[in-house]
Amino acid sequence: MKDRSEQSIREIVIVGGGTAGWMTAAALSHRLATTGTNIRLIESAEIGTVGVGEATLPQIRDFNRMLGIKEAELMGRTSATIKLGIEFRDWGKTGDHYIHPFGVHGEPIGPADFHHYWVKARAEGAAEEFGRYSLPIAAARRLKFNLPPGNPDSLLQSYSYAFQFDASLYAVFLAEYAEARGTRRIEGKVVSVKCDGDNGFIRSLTLESGEQITGDLFIDCSGFRGLLIEQELQTGFADWSDYLPCNRAFAVPCAISDPVGPFTRSTARSAGWQWRIPLQHRIGNGHVYCDRYIRDQDAVDMLMDNLEGEPIAEPKQLFFKTGKRKKLWNRNCIAIGLSGGFLEPLESTSIDLIQSGIMNLLAFFPEKQCAASDADEYNRLMDLEFDRVRDFLMLHYVLNQREEPFWRDMREMAWPDSLREKVEAFERRGLVPQYDQGLFQPASWLSVFIGQNLLPKTWDLRVDAMAADRRSAALQRIKAAIDDSAGRMSEHLAFIETYRAKFAGSNGDMQ
Ligand SMILES: Cc1cc2nc3c(=O)[nH]c(=O)nc-3n(C[C@H](O)[C@H](O)[C@H](O)COP(=O)(O)OP(=O)(O)OC[C@H]3O[C@@H](n4cnc5c(N)ncnc54)[C@H](O)[C@@H]3O)c2cc1C
Repeated sequence: MKDRSEQSIREIVIVGGGTAGWMTAAALSHRLATTGTNIRLIESAEIGTVGVGEATLPQIRDFNRMLGIKEAELMGRTSATIKLGIEFRDWGKTGDHYIHPFGVHGEPIGPADFHHYWVKARAEGAAEEFGRYSLPIAAARRLKFNLPPGNPDSLLQSYSYAFQFDASLYAVFLAEYAEARGTRRIEGKVVSVKCDGDNGFIRSLTLESGEQITGDLFIDCSGFRGLLIEQELQTGFADWSDYLPCNRAFAVPCAISDPVGPFTRSTARSAGWQWRIPLQHRIGNGHVYCDRYIRDQDAVDMLMDNLEGEPIAEPKQLFFKTGKRKKLWNRNCIAIGLSGGFLEPLESTSIDLIQSGIMNLLAFFPEKQCAASDADEYNRLMDLEFDRVRDFLMLHYVLNQREEPFWRDMREMAWPDSLREKVEAFERRGLVPQYDQGLFQPASWLSVFIGQNLLPKTWDLRVDAMAADRRSAALQRIKAAIDDSAGRMSEHLAFIETYRAKFAGSNGDMQ
């Protein structure tokens, strides 16, 4: 048997210092601290980062907790606000609006799921809009927030939260964290890559300065270009533009004019949609669109005409193609972040996919020979993640009832079977997809189905066993409890202020 130390990875090289690169460096430096593994990260100020990506999902809190990062400190350092969900405006028909919350609607009132009781009550004209039965939605609409209390059985525990932050400041924060734990940052541009003639493994990178960087494991966080995974290893790209055709965006920050609430907003436009992400000191805005349906100039004009405050920078144009690498782990190279794939920012999933890539890397952390079975399992799990995000994003588009050519085509496009089955099961009798791995639990699917006007043709049989007056009393009780709780929460901005002040005088732990 070979000496174990000969087989162990000793040198990890990360190419790229954007959100993906520094999240990876922070996690590896934390988890491998006792192993003597060297971690180096190469980044090029000349190339820069993509410079967008401000809205996150609640899972990022698990990542920060794993690293021992104090939330209050993070919020202060990254100008973060709280995010309770995403408000969708005009996505069904013009004038519609709903919130996809980080939480559930209602609470159990009988053997069937809550939404079945609501569907029947609605058919009888005895229910209010679905969003009225969700605490995070009630709080978001009132611009309020409190930390969820600890009691798992309480209706007040029925939500989670994420952050809207300045992603470049998050990367700086994580860079400090990783460098303090031994990650070595190298400024320079990679100009060539050397591979092993036998197995095709990457052996070294050459920088513009002539310096050679050798390694056992290479993490490609080089952004859309996929410097190692694609330009060198030619792994191949699964192009999903037919499913998610938006391929360009303009992004611009603007000044804040009114107090900001704890949610991101997405407003449908004629050939795409516009985001609004409030931070403590500014609002991030962007228009995501498909260039087959609108000219760039019209797209940027539409964005600038719909800002709520003065722009504080020039609009920046971004180009992308939705899809993913055919393998995210190929030989001794793992692609994390935009180098691995991108599925437009509608549900703020990119940073979460980075996190999944990192957690799976830690779970399957290889030896030098990078066993094919580990890589296969890693790729299978990441494929699942990407497929499920793709289907959930598509759901928003295929359920629209708008009239413009872009939206009509989005309704009429070919759907993956995995999505069609989910939509049909809900429409037939209110079944909601359940799966163990991957993003977006039943509560999320339900929010979008109902928010975009898809209602089941019938409800769970067990609902009929409850008398109409008992059903409507239960709904009224839940709504009243939610309104009462939301009304008593703190103003969102007051919460941030108090919380940051608390951090200044304590160890900064949020809960
Ligand atoms: C329009 C848009 C909106 C988005 N909104 C969100 C959002 O709200 N939420 C979310 O989660 N995500 C969002 N994203 C995605 C998010 O921006 C990215 O997932 C995140 O920033 C990670 O990017 P990255 O680190 O992979 O790549 P980048 O930021 O592009 O970083 C690449 C790094 O590689 C380095 N590099 C490249 N080539 C070389 C070389 N030859 N030598 C040395 N260094 C090199 C660069 O210098 C840089 O440091 C959005 C993306 C787009 C396009």
